[in-house]
Amino acid sequence: MPQLATGDMLRAAVAAGTDVGRRAKAAMDSGGLVTDDIVVAIIRDRIAAKDCARGFILDGFPRTIEQAKKLDEMLAKRGEKVDVVVSLEVPDSLLEKRICGRWVHKASGRSYHATLNPPKSLKACPGKQAKPKRMFDDETGEQLEQRSDDTKEALVTRLEAYHSQTKPILEHYSPVVAKIDAAKDMSEVWTAIEAVLPTREN
Ligand code: AMP
Repeated sequence: MPQLATGDMLRAAVAAGTDVGRRAKAAMDSGGLVTDDIVVAIIRDRIAAKDCARGFILDGFPRTIEQAKKLDEMLAKRGEKVDVVVSLEVPDSLLEKRICGRWVHKASGRSYHATLNPPKSLKACPGKQAKPKRMFDDETGEQLEQRSDDTKEALVTRLEAYHSQTKPILEHYSPVVAKIDAAKDMSEVWTAIEAVLPTREN
């Protein structure tokens, strides 16, 4: 099932220098939200593609009540609805360590952490700090990168946006929300997610 992450799509648009990328860049750099019109248009186009006909996973969308209502409308037109909302719950106090230690392999989306999930290249240098020269993807050997908004400063704005604009959508979808304690370690979180994902026959 395709995973559609608006953050990844916007970062690709910024990197490609498209019109959408130029309009989204300042909000993304500061940790604020991009306008509803931009992200709704991106998702509307993407879910029309053939690979989304049997369902899809949205990551980072919707992030406002307005986006949630637009999503519901788009799905209703296809005779569909949101099956489940997976809410990964982590106390704000834990997020700084998670976010500021995150390193990603851009091409595949594989995600690492300087201490919680180091790549082999860092494990081979015991006691050494995570620096670009020691951070490479396990599968391809390519360079890992840190996101420009994975900073202590931008995190403050990102959390403000989450609490004021995104959290209310949990109420909107309350009958289908599955809360997952994501403060636990990775394997436990994954087991809990698998348990709430809908299964499809055929
Ligand atoms: P993410 O990778 O999901 O953390 O998204 C990175 C950044 O992209 C966010 O901080 C926002 O600036 C922007 N963004 C991603 N998804 C959305 C969305 N659904 N609504 C508004 N802004 C978004």
